[in-house]
Amino acid sequence: MTINQSGWRPEMGGGDEATQATFTGNRALMLEEPLLFEIGSADVTGVDFDESPQAPSRLGGMERKDPIGLPGLSEPEAVRHYTRLSRQNYAIDLGLFPLGSCTMKHNPRLNERMARLPGFADVHPLQPVDTVQGALEVIHQLAHWLVTLTGMDSVAMSPKAGAHGELCGILAIRAALEAKGEGHRKVILVPESAHGTNPATAAFAGFKVEDIPATAEGRVDLEALKARLGPDVAGVMITNPNTCGLFERDMRAISDAVHDAGGYVYCDGANFNAIVGRVRPGDLGVDAMHINLHKTFSTPHGGGGPGSGPVVFSAALTPFAPLPFVEKQGDRFALIEEETAGEHHAGSFGRMVAFHGQMGMFTRALSYILSHGADGLYQVSGDAVLNANYVLRQLEDVLDAPFGGSGPCMHEALFSDAGLAEGFTTLDVAKGLIDEGYHPMTMYFPLVVHGAMLIEPTETESKAALDQFIGALRSVAERAKAGDQALKGAPHFAPRRRLDETQAARKPVLRWKAPQPAAQAAE
Ligand SMILES: *Cc1c(COP(=O)(O)O)cnc(C)c1O
Repeated sequence: MTINQSGWRPEMGGGDEATQATFTGNRALMLEEPLLFEIGSADVTGVDFDESPQAPSRLGGMERKDPIGLPGLSEPEAVRHYTRLSRQNYAIDLGLFPLGSCTMKHNPRLNERMARLPGFADVHPLQPVDTVQGALEVIHQLAHWLVTLTGMDSVAMSPKAGAHGELCGILAIRAALEAKGEGHRKVILVPESAHGTNPATAAFAGFKVEDIPATAEGRVDLEALKARLGPDVAGVMITNPNTCGLFERDMRAISDAVHDAGGYVYCDGANFNAIVGRVRPGDLGVDAMHINLHKTFSTPHGGGGPGSGPVVFSAALTPFAPLPFVEKQGDRFALIEEETAGEHHAGSFGRMVAFHGQMGMFTRALSYILSHGADGLYQVSGDAVLNANYVLRQLEDVLDAPFGGSGPCMHEALFSDAGLAEGFTTLDVAKGLIDEGYHPMTMYFPLVVHGAMLIEPTETESKAALDQFIGALRSVAERAKAGDQALKGAPHFAPRRRLDETQAARKPVLRWKAPQPAAQAAE
């Protein structure tokens, strides 16, 4: 047991109240938590099963030879372990989550209520379609909203995250080029400020990635882009609004130039939150764009899921979109799962997933859309942009805002580390924010800004909540500018202090080893 390893021992005496260790290692409601393996032991069991009857093994000699070594825990021990761990997490239900680019907005409880209706929650993807007409109607209605809001021709609902959606769009572009006999176009142009998933997607799909430079204003350099276009370019991947929190005003000109050169335009729509209800990417000449339902449409983010990243397509790419899709035939909903010669989906590149996508997220996103309506969504983007500009203007006197001079931002405010005291970094500011009770902002991204701090408050925060966050960040920024050495040791109040994150990423310790019994260790 390691529970009291860091605990108080008589020889420690009294001392400074704030640093005095406790017997348990707990500090009031901040509870230390050992690993499951340290709590339970492999020789006890949490449940009592009857001895299993002897039956001939059908494992053909592949039976496990040694005990598996799982710790036995009672139900309360297991429940407490996971509850304690969950309390060490920051969550959108605890406070403002300023991560730029991630759009951590409130997840309305109404959405949860709808998603838990048994008719939606308990459907199975292999059920006969006549028994899931309502679920198909939800997918169809949500698809209709997404196509309408983006001004596009069609939508593939199955991709399961933004990055997965990028792959879907790029595979459709590849299929369209191959159908035209232009499979030799192998270059995808990506701006320097792009999210890492963009170049990764293009490379994964077999393309060569080349950077497009940015202007001093933080936008795509149109002339540099035009100069690079040619017969080897398959297309571009452009984020709009971009990851500097700025609208790409030249988007229409960019699309026209790319189309004239025979390429396609992929738009990373992760920041659709900032323009929903106001700008239709279809009007800007976009051919494919993913929409992160877990960003713009308030469904929960998860660790690697449960995201959902539907991809909208222009008429030029629709024939190559993946299957399946839901089609209304008279008053019935049909699931189109096969390519059919002569039909508009005859060139489909195949499937992205085994089934139809994230049903639970579709239900939540449609609930959000219907509860806001078209006018409500228009207000969502307006409020998101207003909140970000409030943060930008309230902090630009203490933090350097590299593009603050070029007008209002969109949904996120971008700062750099210029002006911090010698030796103080963005990391110090982030760690200081943890002591203030906030999850840090996105940092060191986008790469085009030195020591970037990217803050996206979203529309779901009140002015009071923004003011408190601004106050906290202002205080930490002032300490970093004044060279307050205590900030270098932050976080001071978190369950763990400053970690060697590089080491943790490069050499993760993933396997628990039982401590050696004392006698053996001494030998
Ligand atoms: C979030 C994000 C992505 C990736 O989306 P996931 O759903 O996390 O896979 C891609 N691009 C940008 C700009 C993003 O913010």
